[in-house]
Amino acid sequence: MAHTFVGGVHPHDMKHLSKDKAIENAPIPKVVRIPMAQHLGAPCKPVVEKGAPVKKGQVVGEASAFVSAPVHSSVSGKVVDVGSYEHIFGDLVTSVVIENDGEDTWAEGLNVETPDIDSLGADELKKRITDAGIVGLGGATFPLHVKVSPPKNKPINSFILNGVECQPYLTADDRLMLEKPDGIIQGLRILCKVVGAKDRYIGIEANKPDAIKVMREAAAKVDPSIKVVALPVKYPQGAEKQLIKAILDREVPSGGLPMDVGALVNNVGTAFATWEAVKYNKPLIERVLTVTGEGIENPKNLLALVGHPIKELLDLCGVKAGANKIILGGPMMGLAQYTTDLVVIKGTSGILVMEGKPVGRYGPCIRCGRCVDTCPMRLVPSRLSVLLEAKNVALAKASNLLDCIECGVCTYVCPAKRPIVQFIKYGKGELRAIQAKERAKAEAKKAQEEEKKKEEATASK
Ligand code: SF4
Ligand code: SF4
Repeated sequence: MAHTFVGGVHPHDMKHLSKDKAIENAPIPKVVRIPMAQHLGAPCKPVVEKGAPVKKGQVVGEASAFVSAPVHSSVSGKVVDVGSYEHIFGDLVTSVVIENDGEDTWAEGLNVETPDIDSLGADELKKRITDAGIVGLGGATFPLHVKVSPPKNKPINSFILNGVECQPYLTADDRLMLEKPDGIIQGLRILCKVVGAKDRYIGIEANKPDAIKVMREAAAKVDPSIKVVALPVKYPQGAEKQLIKAILDREVPSGGLPMDVGALVNNVGTAFATWEAVKYNKPLIERVLTVTGEGIENPKNLLALVGHPIKELLDLCGVKAGANKIILGGPMMGLAQYTTDLVVIKGTSGILVMEGKPVGRYGPCIRCGRCVDTCPMRLVPSRLSVLLEAKNVALAKASNLLDCIECGVCTYVCPAKRPIVQFIKYGKGELRAIQAKERAKAEAKKAQEEEKKKEEATASK
């Protein structure tokens, strides 16, 4: 078995700042803000109005499409606004603002234990996952009910739980595995039952020996067929295609998905949320995240509510005077922010505060080949960056632009400091816009043709 993948880098993991800090409950905020966009796919539609009372766990935003996930109130209280607010994706997003009444009153039927979950069938399990609004908590935020609904011609035989947490600095998954191993194992069993996967794995990087030990012990108690695999420390070991290659020695084809090779991958936090949804009928209204970085006085792993103001979490951990950069997520794939007027969303795995010098102006490609040697998708990032700098999206697409997993490795190794992954994100955005225009054009043409047919049919009567 390979247990590794091609390319990759070895940045300092910086996990010592927070890895020994047990998960703390963040103080419950007076006001939460629940954005309607917290997942990949169509944003939710708000279903409450200003002034309405809400209970904890109540749906405040309904999924508007199959690839979407409902959002819930993380407190009980009163809706004080439904409007557009800053969002970590950099734009304004419709959000429901709720004033907490401090009563912690759950909506009816929620936070109630189901004694025997083994008797529940796959359809009921999937319904609970869907209703709970679970999305991939590793950062991808893909709705879980969609991921566990592969087409019939793509049977899943292998399920991998991702406990790699290869992003430097972040330790939330590590702490969750140490402190909640049984719930994670139960979540994995539920997910395997839903998709019918017989082979079960948990991949963890070798720099988390305690988590490997704890998860092996927890698995042995319940399901000895679960294999906890210790993986070499290499970034981006936690990317799903790289994890499938390392553990199963299967190659996801270009443009394909893990289901094309009979596999599914989910984060350990997602498995734990699944367990809570099924066992306690608890929607996804909180998550564990790491507040860390050289700019933080007292790094912590926190259990925070969805909608929790980021500023309050920063105040709790203390920001040093010299701190000058905030990133939501890890340093390799996270999103740099220009404001702290933001809230925790389902995909917020970390809040990273840095002290550092600006990178400065980037230079031309010097053809050193480092990005080519380290790209885990075997792309030619230098070529993509040059093409996209020249706005040549069509040629970049032909050079496999869409296979890029945006891991940031090329940008990390580039001595010319070229913002390669930023060029790539720009290119993908342009491509999406072109495709949307083409779709709209084709739909308009179809509508025109149908209209013409109707007119001809009327004329011939
Ligand atoms: S960001 Fe894309 S191009 Fe750059 S190393 Fe990662 S996969 Fe390769
Ligand atoms: S690492 Fe930077 S300078 Fe070197 S080949 Fe790639 S883009 Fe060019």
